[in-house]
Amino acid sequence: MLAELRGLNEECGVFGVWNHPSAAQMSYYALHSLQHRGQEGSGIVVTTGDSLQARKGLGLVTEVFTAKCMEKLQGTGAIGHVRYSVGGTNGYENVQPLLFRSQTGGIAIAHNGNLTNSLELRVMLENEGSIFQTDADAEVLAHLIKRGGNTPLPERIKWALTQLEGAYAFVLLTETELYVALDPYGLRPLSLGKLGDAWVVASETCAFDLIGATYEREVYPGEFLTIKDTGLSSEFVAKKASRALCAMEYVYFSRPDSNLRGKNVHTARKKLGKALAQEHPIEADVVTGVPDSSLSAAIGYAEASGLPYELGLIKSRYVGRTFIEPSQSLREQGVKLKLSAVQGVVKGKRVIMVDDSFVRGTTSTRITRMLKEAGATEVHVLIASPPIKYPCYYGMDTLSASELVAANYDLKEMREMIGADSLRFLSVDKLQEVLGSPNSRDDHGLCLACFTGNYPIKGDDHV
Ligand code: 5GP
Ligand code: SF4
Ligand code: MG
Repeated sequence: MLAELRGLNEECGVFGVWNHPSAAQMSYYALHSLQHRGQEGSGIVVTTGDSLQARKGLGLVTEVFTAKCMEKLQGTGAIGHVRYSVGGTNGYENVQPLLFRSQTGGIAIAHNGNLTNSLELRVMLENEGSIFQTDADAEVLAHLIKRGGNTPLPERIKWALTQLEGAYAFVLLTETELYVALDPYGLRPLSLGKLGDAWVVASETCAFDLIGATYEREVYPGEFLTIKDTGLSSEFVAKKASRALCAMEYVYFSRPDSNLRGKNVHTARKKLGKALAQEHPIEADVVTGVPDSSLSAAIGYAEASGLPYELGLIKSRYVGRTFIEPSQSLREQGVKLKLSAVQGVVKGKRVIMVDDSFVRGTTSTRITRMLKEAGATEVHVLIASPPIKYPCYYGMDTLSASELVAANYDLKEMREMIGADSLRFLSVDKLQEVLGSPNSRDDHGLCLACFTGNYPIKGDDHV
């Protein structure tokens, strides 16, 4: 049960807009640009001013929303969600936003992250009479909010937030307000922008670019925003904590055209590639990346090493991400479907293959084989992040240490396993040097827990 609950809400994307005549349409486009954060389900809830309308479903944004259903979603405020999940619980009921109706009005909630005390809270709430319909953390928040009785809604939401532990970026919508909350560590990214007279909030800034919004600032760790017709107000409700933005957002999750804390993700990845070349210079003929996620790092490696950057691998545009497949065998098939080696580029060459991260080792194994089958004389696998050795409890899909190759094997064993001529990783020190310091009081604090085992949230039952 606990593992199942932990496995939810992975790497999702959230969006919110207030005071825009086409709030649902803006959400549709924004969710489209956040689609890389989750492909299993998507939803939009819009307010007409006195009622909330929802449309959601399993699948991609373009599959869930037809032109006809968008016509029905009329209103000036909206929230949206794209969902990624692993494990068995990927049914319709878990697709967000979740919409709750009560005598006093409705509330819709969408969440990115993972609460570390959700099981505890569920047990407590169930003991007191709540019944849950979903496995989503958003439902835990809804029940907590309802427990506040007749005190004003913002007070109840703020109290409920103080009961939560773990990672969260929440957007909440009522008929007359949009609320936004980020956990005290700022584990998940969340940005605030303006679109004419409208306020917008999104997991990534690439959503702003698509709809023509301008970036205002990050939502601060522990911040609670109330946005309504009279304007925006900001408060800090959660206890003060050290900043710990997920380092994997820079390494893999976020889109290269997004900015995180003002740093462009592509540029950050390129720097990681450069740092990798400094740490691990290797004699070879060409450098190639694994489309699309490691191309920036591969370009950085090539630039710093003086070796030519080549398209050694081509990706089919029409297959989903390998990681989303439920089983190892399906994942392996997925990689095969997705990528092919370019013989004309790699034949007879010593190839440096730069990837962004190493989790189960599936991608590195398949690609090394593929490159060798295409005639590469040597394949050197260089990973632009440190080995992932520890499970993430804050929203990434690594449920147990047993699935993490680097938690169970040493470097030599891993190199043999993937069949490469060498295997090298970026050091934690270099990663920090490029991206910021670990879990610090300043704004550059990072979570590095899956690399180091130093979890930013103390007192968890998971460590
Ligand atoms: P592996 O193949 O070692 O299990 O996972 C690493 C590879 O999968 C990388 O190429 C990375 O781009 C890709 N990948 C897909 N989804 C994810 C994810 O959710 N997290 C990480 N770290 N990598 C992922
Ligand atoms: Fe991100 Fe890793 Fe921290 Fe999870 S443990 S939040 S993936 S840095
Ligand atoms: Mg990749």
